[in-house]
Amino acid sequence: MRSHTVAHLFASLLCNGTGALVTGNQLETDKIRFDFSLEQFNPEILEKYVAKTNELLKKDTPVKSFELPKEEALKIPGVVKMAEAFPPDIPRLRIVELVDLDKQADGGTHVKNLKEVGQIKLLKTENKGKNNRRIYFTLTP
Ligand SMILES: [Zn+2]
Repeated sequence: MRSHTVAHLFASLLCNGTGALVTGNQLETDKIRFDFSLEQFNPEILEKYVAKTNELLKKDTPVKSFELPKEEALKIPGVVKMAEAFPPDIPRLRIVELVDLDKQADGGTHVKNLKEVGQIKLLKTENKGKNNRRIYFTLTP
């Protein structure tokens, strides 16, 4: 739940800040892998987004979820951050909201407040070829 929640926050900052799209991710209990498309590969930029994420994780931000009719949900800017075919063919979407920060269509389970996540630490970044970047980070206890 903690890694799922922080994945939303990180994706939101990265996508809004750089225009990147998430092309894949893998969440383990305390380790998170993100693949995304980004033309310029600069590990320093990723450090910056990790630092930004940690800053926001210290704040009191409730995490909520609710359902919306799909048509309405898709009007929310940035609600879909995956590059792949989405949304699924269902009439209603579940939205996960980091209050005042981000809304994303998602079916997973999350903590109730960003403060519960703790902090993250960058493990490594990889250049996977044209437009393909990868970052690993972990939750610190
Ligand atoms: Zn989620």
